[in-house]
Amino acid sequence: MNVDYIIVGLGLAGLAFAEELERNQKSFVVFEDNSQNSSLVAGGVYNPVILKRFTPVWDALDQLKIAIPFYKSLEKKLNSQFDFPIDIYRVFTSIEEQNNWFNACDKPFFEDYMIAEVVKNTNKYVNAPFGFGRITNTGKIDTKALLESYRGYLMGKGQLFNESFNYSLLELQNESVSYKNMNANQLVFCEGYGVVKNPYFKNVPLKEAKGELLTIHAPELKIDFMVKSSIFIMPLGDDYYKIGATFNWTDKTLHPTEEAKEELLSKLAKIITVPYKVVGQSAGIRPTVKDRRPILGRHSQYKQLAILNGLGTRGVMLAPKLAKQIYGHLEENQSLDAVIDISRFEL
Ligand SMILES: Cc1cc2nc3c(=O)[nH]c(=O)nc-3n(C[C@H](O)[C@H](O)[C@H](O)COP(=O)(O)OP(=O)(O)OC[C@H]3O[C@@H](n4cnc5c(N)ncnc54)[C@H](O)[C@@H]3O)c2cc1C
Repeated sequence: MNVDYIIVGLGLAGLAFAEELERNQKSFVVFEDNSQNSSLVAGGVYNPVILKRFTPVWDALDQLKIAIPFYKSLEKKLNSQFDFPIDIYRVFTSIEEQNNWFNACDKPFFEDYMIAEVVKNTNKYVNAPFGFGRITNTGKIDTKALLESYRGYLMGKGQLFNESFNYSLLELQNESVSYKNMNANQLVFCEGYGVVKNPYFKNVPLKEAKGELLTIHAPELKIDFMVKSSIFIMPLGDDYYKIGATFNWTDKTLHPTEEAKEELLSKLAKIITVPYKVVGQSAGIRPTVKDRRPILGRHSQYKQLAILNGLGTRGVMLAPKLAKQIYGHLEENQSLDAVIDISRFEL
């Protein structure tokens, strides 16, 4: 079998790159072994405001310009809803925070997003005596539904192999690769944290940032916006809510822990005072780079190998733009921004 590309990994990065290839009529196959699940468990939130300090997320407006139409077109293609617009209500903890909010609202960057008013809390089960700051034009992508649907789509066309990519079977020719019975011009690794097992890119400075989330059922809570305090509360419908997320910089395992559950529940107790039942817990490792920027580019020695990784905490907004950038780099020799180019590291 001859293809233009082999992709390893079908999380958000692999999916966005596969889409970019398909739009450009390139042939490809994907290997996916379910060894990582960051994209499957992600909250899926897109939002251009850093909610701790009310500052802009790096490159967010440009990313959103590409990301929103990208997910809309996938909704059409796969005939399902994945993008759920929903406002975020940031809980204020003091008058000083309210003032900081109004100062930030004056900045042109935020004009389509931050609303210059203090929203009064009217829900007796939510603890927000200083009210909320409302961010609009935000939302969440149901990444699990999207990936499951996309995997089915590729499977149906015989382009997805549900198996581990075995690095030791990869053969490198001058300007192409062979793997089992396949030949490809290029191979793009999109393995998320799984890249630590990749002999060609194992030295990329990835810092594991394990995150855990709970799902609760709280029939009396009745909120139809996302609440952001030290954690977020995200309505899922039918009185279910996702609660998250934790950050653990040392645990490299994928299983949910009692410690994270306790941390989330104690933070939750400070925000809501309503009975609920925990009905689920999930965990994943965010592929986070030391300098908090993605990693894109070709291998320094083997030009037929490339990487698309380092999506960190914001894969939903980043993946579609990065997929375009790496495609332009590989196919049209466009240069990559220095801040995302793998060559910024000496590997
Ligand atoms: C708890 C949590 C909450 C999050 N919330 C948000 C959020 O609200 N908004 C947001 O934008 N981002 C969020 N993120 C971050 C987001 O999930 C990541 O940025 C993104 O999913 C990374 O995508 P990826 O494709 O690079 O990696 P992954 O999702 O890890 O995908 C890599 C894929 O490669 C596969 N793979 C690896 N090695 C191999 C191999 N050898 N052979 C075959 N397949 C292989 C893995 O199985 C996996 O499916 C969250 C993450 C976590 C953990």
